[in-house]
Amino acid sequence: MAWVGAPETVACPPWCGGGHDEAHPVDRVHWSTGTLLFEPVLADAEFVRVDEKTFEQPLRLLVTMTQGYRELGPRVTMVHENTEHGKGFDVTLTEAEQVGRELLRLAAEGRAAPVQAVHRQ
Ligand SMILES: [Zn+2]
Repeated sequence: MAWVGAPETVACPPWCGGGHDEAHPVDRVHWSTGTLLFEPVLADAEFVRVDEKTFEQPLRLLVTMTQGYRELGPRVTMVHENTEHGKGFDVTLTEAEQVGRELLRLAAEGRAAPVQAVHRQ
């Protein structure tokens, strides 16, 4: 990412939800108000141990957009909500558009095919 000027001279982008601590502009990260948080039905749940007990925790995927201090543009972040911070990944806006188009193409192709059982030999 390229860097731009001081944070106090850079206004929030229109997609930012605001709510920043103006006393610490260098810590400012713009967060999109539009996010997608969902539990993919095909994803396996995780098992978490707390106080000698095991709990099943469904996988929740968060898709959002952020732009950090002095970053020239936003990034799209996809992260498994239940994991430690930083275990997701970021993509550029161009990559997000490519993935989005391909997901739509694959879904349309899958829906257009006749439903039939697959038999193993
Ligand atoms: Zn902002």
